[in-house]
Amino acid sequence: MISYSDARKKIEAEVAEIQPGTEHVPLGNSLERVLANDVFAAADLPAFDNSAMDGVAIQFEELRTQWTLVGEIAAGHYSEVDVRKSYAVQIMTGAKIPISCDTIVPNEDFSLIECDKSGGTKVILNTNSIIKKGQFVRRAGEDLKNGSMVLKKSTVISPSQIPVLAACGQSQVLVYKKLRVAIFVTGDELVEIDQVPVNDQIRCSNLPSIITLVRAAGHEPISYGIVKDDRHIIQQTLKKIIESDVDVLLTTGGASVGKFDFINQEIEKLGVKSHFSGSAIKPGMPCTFGTVSFASRKMLIFALPGNPVSCFVNFRVYVAPAMQKIFGVNYPFRPRAMLCSSLKKSDSKRHFIRGLLQQEKSGGEFSVTPFNLQASGNLWGMGQANCLIVVEEQTTELHKGDFVECMLI
Ligand code: AMP
Ligand code: MG
Repeated sequence: MISYSDARKKIEAEVAEIQPGTEHVPLGNSLERVLANDVFAAADLPAFDNSAMDGVAIQFEELRTQWTLVGEIAAGHYSEVDVRKSYAVQIMTGAKIPISCDTIVPNEDFSLIECDKSGGTKVILNTNSIIKKGQFVRRAGEDLKNGSMVLKKSTVISPSQIPVLAACGQSQVLVYKKLRVAIFVTGDELVEIDQVPVNDQIRCSNLPSIITLVRAAGHEPISYGIVKDDRHIIQQTLKKIIESDVDVLLTTGGASVGKFDFINQEIEKLGVKSHFSGSAIKPGMPCTFGTVSFASRKMLIFALPGNPVSCFVNFRVYVAPAMQKIFGVNYPFRPRAMLCSSLKKSDSKRHFIRGLLQQEKSGGEFSVTPFNLQASGNLWGMGQANCLIVVEEQTTELHKGDFVECMLI
């Protein structure tokens, strides 16, 4: 049986040459989509020197504490004012600064005094206020220089990146097309979740689980529903999907060696190349990975185990990283956390233990509590967990206080 690392290598080798499609989407719909090119600034940001405060703009001169007010500039209402050394112009935050000015004195640092004789207004610096040359000026290009990189290709667009893309005029962004992922689950015992199971029937957990995981990974699920453990129906369903234009096929159940486990035999009959069948992980050993190639494209096929926990874990450790690799996305943050109780294992598989990751205080160390109930059928435990604790092959014992790698789920 193949190791986890070799399984990952095989998957990565297969996805390496896949060229995902691209499309333009409006910026407002681009959240969580993956950039398909580097984005460069086509102008300085800000485009002009502007005021960071409401106040007056002046030409800095050592020891000067009084100026004559000669006009005002509101944001979006620039007009050139010739501001001599003894002049000041009232200016609002974001307004363009006259060429002759280099410094802003904020409102809280001066008083405006009306002069009876001249009818003009004087700006008088407060006694305790100090001015530094160049203060409160936002320089053109200080945020971003024309031609510099805004965001790298393969960035997953987050809310914090929308403003900079907007400021750079990216009304349409080039992103990778979502992968189209066909899904079907197998099992004569399965009923839809809105049905009441009778006798030995069970509700189908995997279909909503996988559909959600695919969506959460940023792709498009296409459900073929529940399929009976019937060789012919499985064959027909597989054929229909393989002849369609989907990028990935995920099946669950029937991928082991039971008398009614037909998936592996049937995908082989359809010319799918199997790269591994079963990998040394726990939970989730019986997972098959195959590919089928057409003239210009390749379809990835993962036959996941039926057990809902095993199926979930396989998705997180194999399927999601494969999809990320296709888009060149880096693997997500995997914190190291201090174990709150000891762990033992007696085999040489890689274990993914459901656990609860916590951070005592912000910026502090992470700690993780493994759940006692690790049976692969324990769905309640998985519902409480927020991570998988990675226990490597050679490790047989971990003690309270040891540090372990955690994958967020
Ligand atoms: P299998 O991989 O088909 O041998 O299934 C392994 C276990 O997972 C069995 O107990 C099945 O009843 C259960 N199982 C299979 N498919 C599903 C599903 N879609 N939802 C919930 N449990 C399932
Ligand atoms: Mg089954």
